[in-house]
Amino acid sequence: MSSATSVQGLKDFRENRAIRQCKIIATMGPSALKRENLTTLISNGLDIARLNFSHGDHESHLANIQLIRSISLAVGRRVTILQDLQGPKIRCGKLLADQMLLKSGESYQLVFGSEQRDPAIIPIDYAGLVSDVKIGDLVMMDDGLLHLQVTSISAQSVTVTVLEGGILKNRKGINFPNTILSLPAMTEKDNRDLLFGISHDVDIIALSFVQTARDVVRCKQIIRALGSDVPVIAKIEKLSAVEAIEEIAAVADGLMVARGDLGVECGVERVPMFQRRIIATAEKFAVPVIIATQMLESMIENPRASAAEVADVANGVLEGADCLMLSAEAATGKYPVQCVEKMDSIIRQVESWSHTRTPRYLRRTAVDGHRWLDHEAIARAACEAADTLGARAIVCLTLTGSIARLIASWRPRTPIIAISPREDVIQRLGFTWGVFGMKNPLFYNTDVLLQELPEVLKTYGVVKTGDMVVITAGIPMSGMKPTNLIKINRIP
Ligand code: PGA
Ligand code: MN
Repeated sequence: MSSATSVQGLKDFRENRAIRQCKIIATMGPSALKRENLTTLISNGLDIARLNFSHGDHESHLANIQLIRSISLAVGRRVTILQDLQGPKIRCGKLLADQMLLKSGESYQLVFGSEQRDPAIIPIDYAGLVSDVKIGDLVMMDDGLLHLQVTSISAQSVTVTVLEGGILKNRKGINFPNTILSLPAMTEKDNRDLLFGISHDVDIIALSFVQTARDVVRCKQIIRALGSDVPVIAKIEKLSAVEAIEEIAAVADGLMVARGDLGVECGVERVPMFQRRIIATAEKFAVPVIIATQMLESMIENPRASAAEVADVANGVLEGADCLMLSAEAATGKYPVQCVEKMDSIIRQVESWSHTRTPRYLRRTAVDGHRWLDHEAIARAACEAADTLGARAIVCLTLTGSIARLIASWRPRTPIIAISPREDVIQRLGFTWGVFGMKNPLFYNTDVLLQELPEVLKTYGVVKTGDMVVITAGIPMSGMKPTNLIKINRIP
């Protein structure tokens, strides 16, 4: 464990601070990407940088990836890079005056195209709309701000009447909450973007507008065909995805409660219940879950958060999110640094309180005649041993990171350090609650690693003499065994 980067992100351990377990994602954009802002964000605890492929070209995304990596290296803190694919989101094209007023009661035509020529025609980027919609279907524009309804359909155009008007701007999203769209789960653009992401080693992919488990499986097949095993997060933002949440969680590597589009598609009133349901499903399948959109919305313009926003962030943590996400607050807002600081401080407050409550692993009982599997028993035992001993860390020697994710899903109070020989595994663990990665090339030399571990952890300042650590491993490691060992160590 020679390179300094192998202990990136373990600063809180070295400084003997409480470890924040819920992770913070910030969407990149002109505000967050200002060099001084990004340096501060990463030093102050940004865990995951999200690149939103609904905007920007490959050249600018590549420059941003390089900037994030170079600052991460300079600051000595790992940052996980999340590539968010646009998915089949329908948008309007470029408008004549870059915007237009849609008046209630007026009718307009939706026609396939990219530029507006006639003020009565709104260009949209989906050619198949005429065959998908029915008269009476709802049309929502700009995150549900504008409401329209389909009043007639012809071979080339769909006529819509405005129910609730307002200003429509260039390239705004359009949702069809009661229409079954025959768009593919991954568009041509998504395929090109995915290839770009994989060739530049992004750590995680998020797939937008997933409708069924098949969408996720297909995306994973493409990834495998490209020679990669990068994890895929299913963004839950359609009613059909909520309805198929168990099947999706069984095949996805993570879930995102994409509250912006979910609210538009299903009605905002249902989002809080859906959020709980999605988090519960993520717990059941031991996959990470992200809560996204409008968490600190008013901080786009103001340096302070509202009480309601603070409560929303706190509730996300209490409900069991692995990560909380900032969108426009970080990407284009006036106070990206303050947003991450605020989120960090709210999470720390909640965690210090929730550590006094009964943890998940003690609340969970075997139901429906479920027989514990070996690694589940080990995960649970590791949590219990570490928490009752007041251990400094649960240290998982893991090739793929799966035991670290399982232990995290039981929500021990003790932070988890995952040691793997694989850089990509360490990087992608960045979006799992409570898990911090360390790379170790000695991984396959079981005896040496297990014997030297206390000393190694000590050398890097993660633990000090007298601290307890709980270690899990699969031995012999050269045989790539699943985790079969749990060891309790007092650091000499
Ligand atoms: P988006 O996804 O920001 O890519 O739209 C999140 C959401 O819909 O909430
Ligand atoms: Mn969305």
